[in-house]
Amino acid sequence: MKILISGAGIAGPALAYWLEKAGFEPTVVELAQAPRPGGQTVDIRGIAREVVERMGVMEAVKERRMHERGLAYVRADGRRSAALPAEILDGGGPVAEIEILRGDLSEILLDATSQKIEYLYGDSITKLVQDDDGVQVTFHSGSERRFDLVVGADGVHSRVRSLAFGNEAEFVEHLGGYGSFFTVKTPEPLDGWMKIYSAPGGRWVGMRPDHDPQYAKALLSFRSPLLPRLKPAEQKALLAKTFAGAGWHAAHAIDAMEGADDFYFDSTSRVVVPEWSRGRIVLLGDAGYCGSPMAGHGTALSLVGAYVLAGELTRYDGDHARAFPAYQREMQPYVDQRTELPPGGLKMAMPMTATGIRLRDASTRLMTSRPFRPLLAKLAGQPDAIALKPYPAITQARTTQG
Ligand SMILES: Cc1cc2nc3c(=O)[nH]c(=O)nc-3n(C[C@H](O)[C@H](O)[C@H](O)COP(=O)(O)OP(=O)(O)OC[C@H]3O[C@@H](n4cnc5c(N)ncnc54)[C@H](O)[C@@H]3O)c2cc1C
Repeated sequence: MKILISGAGIAGPALAYWLEKAGFEPTVVELAQAPRPGGQTVDIRGIAREVVERMGVMEAVKERRMHERGLAYVRADGRRSAALPAEILDGGGPVAEIEILRGDLSEILLDATSQKIEYLYGDSITKLVQDDDGVQVTFHSGSERRFDLVVGADGVHSRVRSLAFGNEAEFVEHLGGYGSFFTVKTPEPLDGWMKIYSAPGGRWVGMRPDHDPQYAKALLSFRSPLLPRLKPAEQKALLAKTFAGAGWHAAHAIDAMEGADDFYFDSTSRVVVPEWSRGRIVLLGDAGYCGSPMAGHGTALSLVGAYVLAGELTRYDGDHARAFPAYQREMQPYVDQRTELPPGGLKMAMPMTATGIRLRDASTRLMTSRPFRPLLAKLAGQPDAIALKPYPAITQARTTQG
């Protein structure tokens, strides 16, 4: 069976990996001209660790893992006002048990698949027409091809979703903010800490460790109602305006933004799609379910979702009419659990006023104080609401093929 996957981020290559193992013929189409670098540290938590083990890429992940010590809120002068150290949440907080740069993880997944799988970079789907036997796909480049199934793994603003399911506004909820990530020369030693400075007006300036201590992954995030789609130059101009005079390392980040080759900007959005498939077309990862970086489990959901989707396709011998609903049934409790937003959402995390910022820091100090730590660790350490089925057709294929 020929299966087209749209999107070569995390979910797309992970699915391609399992499909190829099971004897399907996946093709991946990616809008970007080449593998996309960039992003900050993402986490591989709980059951997603097991998936990474089963894929046989844990060694590669461990070689490139980051060793972050936690999240520290700092004042404009750099002094720490509150902190969430990794160890008190036992890996369940904003810094998880295995942290890896998003670009590194994407590269590992591409390395594990690109020898055997066709990747079409610099192209995208413009039309999908399905009938009883397959899906006729038209590409932006003008070519037309036929596939048995199509998977939308093309992120929050999924093209497959808008072509086959409906308008983005039906499925994507704007949570009231925007975020941008890019690499800069580090303005100060971070010593393993992700540092966040909150400026009044609901603005965050962050610096997160890179492998090379001379560099940092900058974060600029701000509260805002939904804006029209902006081009990269407009996004940068907006950031420069929003963060002018914000303090701490905002000016440094704005100066470095122009030269960064991994600039990324997006809304903080949640994706809820009631039914993840339409006939022969199915959604995976952020395209189908996403709690936003605020909820913070996007990578784990993608890795687990890819495993379950491929597994159910093998269990039903490629019969999508049974496999797609089974994939959703299996994943839904886990998705509901891991797309839940932290209490207070952006309003709590990114206060508008100096008083709000002081209150947030005080409550962070209280929550992380000794008497509250067991409760906090318990809340953060809730087990995943899914158990991985073995799916012998994909997992045993791995053992026999090495
Ligand atoms: C460059 C980048 C940096 C990121 N940085 C962070 C971060 O620092 N922290 C965080 O929590 N999350 C980040 N994310 C989001 C995070 O990767 C996802 O939440 C999560 O890993 C789920 O992965 P995904 O594969 O579903 O989506 P994504 O990782 O978003 O991948 C989707 C892929 O689809 C491609 N695509 C989009 N439209 C089309 C189209 N029309 N046709 C073909 N391909 C298309 C995109 O270029 C991308 O490669 C980032 C995403 C990207 C793309």
